[in-house]
Amino acid sequence: MKKHIVMLPGDGIGQEVTKAAKKVLEAVAERYHHTFTFESHEIGGAAIDSQGTPLPEDTVAACKKADAILLGAVGGPQWDHLPGHMRPEKGLLGIRKKMELFANLRPIKGFKQLLHASPLKEEVVSGSDLLIVRELTGGLYFGEPSERRNGGKEVVDTLAYSHSEIVRIVDQAFQSARVRRKHLTSVDKANVLESSRMWREVVEEKSKEYPDVTVEHMLVDAAAMKLITSPSSFDVIVTENMFGDILSDEASVLTGSLGMLPSASIRSDGVGLYEPVHGSAPDIAGQNKANPLAAILSAAMMLKYSFQLEEEAEQVENAVKEVLDARFHTADLAVHDGVEVSGSEMAAKVIEQI
Ligand code: ATP
Ligand code: MG
Repeated sequence: MKKHIVMLPGDGIGQEVTKAAKKVLEAVAERYHHTFTFESHEIGGAAIDSQGTPLPEDTVAACKKADAILLGAVGGPQWDHLPGHMRPEKGLLGIRKKMELFANLRPIKGFKQLLHASPLKEEVVSGSDLLIVRELTGGLYFGEPSERRNGGKEVVDTLAYSHSEIVRIVDQAFQSARVRRKHLTSVDKANVLESSRMWREVVEEKSKEYPDVTVEHMLVDAAAMKLITSPSSFDVIVTENMFGDILSDEASVLTGSLGMLPSASIRSDGVGLYEPVHGSAPDIAGQNKANPLAAILSAAMMLKYSFQLEEEAEQVENAVKEVLDARFHTADLAVHDGVEVSGSEMAAKVIEQI
């Protein structure tokens, strides 16, 4: 199989972890006789410094021609003084919107070797394995108008969704549920929000096309509670942009390690942008300390979701498990009797397994 991948390392540890993930993809290509070609472009703070914009034209053009995109992270304290539209984060929001990557998928699955690191009791988190499907290009974060009125004494943010925007994300969630444990929890606030009432109607309507998937509706406040009291009762969660933002950060706590969580932002034709959930971690950037596993697992999601290479994806996930079983870990993971290694050594261990 021939695929073209655009790399957007971005800022801070984004540089280190995407380099590690690229090496893993190269190892997969070699073992399974695929041809992956790579092209690297700037985004975020790095792009601001060299080209005066967080999302240069050539970056957008390259992404539009790519089969998949692997992103590191954007941002850092040196750009915090810039006005809102010039922030590194605008590069990321912009590319998601321009590419119409409307579905953000975050699998949350604790590795058994690391469950002790969760602030929750082991018996609560063990066995939890869920996928959050968050709508990514609509709702409150993109609502117009978003402004101050009456001489700054009043503010307006708008939560708008079209019927078709809800249909496409709900359909994606049903598809994801179908290949997992076939249970979908739709999270909303239908007791107060009109957008949530339409959301519920769409879910009910769609469920007729997926009779094999069981559906439950849950209010977002109840869902927030249940996520930490009985996380293993969830399989797939589907929700709008802001609820998904909050719930997915909450759910990441279940695994006890930010450095382990991958994510995918995809659209219906399979093109996707893959990135670790963690940020640019300026406090450890450039020290070869960053845990590359979230980026490596994001590359595994790329193999699965954009290229339909299930076996290869599983091979990468298994390689990660084997390395953890051998008690190798980076500085961010507290492993009892473990062997601490650098970020690049960690990547090398994974590649050895592949
Ligand atoms: P952002 O606003 O970009 O999401 P953030 O404030 O959420 O950033 P991160 O950059 O994700 O923060 O970092 C939070 C903490 O976790 C930092 O102390 C950082 O060093 C640590 N951290 C994040 N990612 C990793 C990683 N891959 N390996 C090791 N430590 C990490
Ligand atoms: Mg963050």
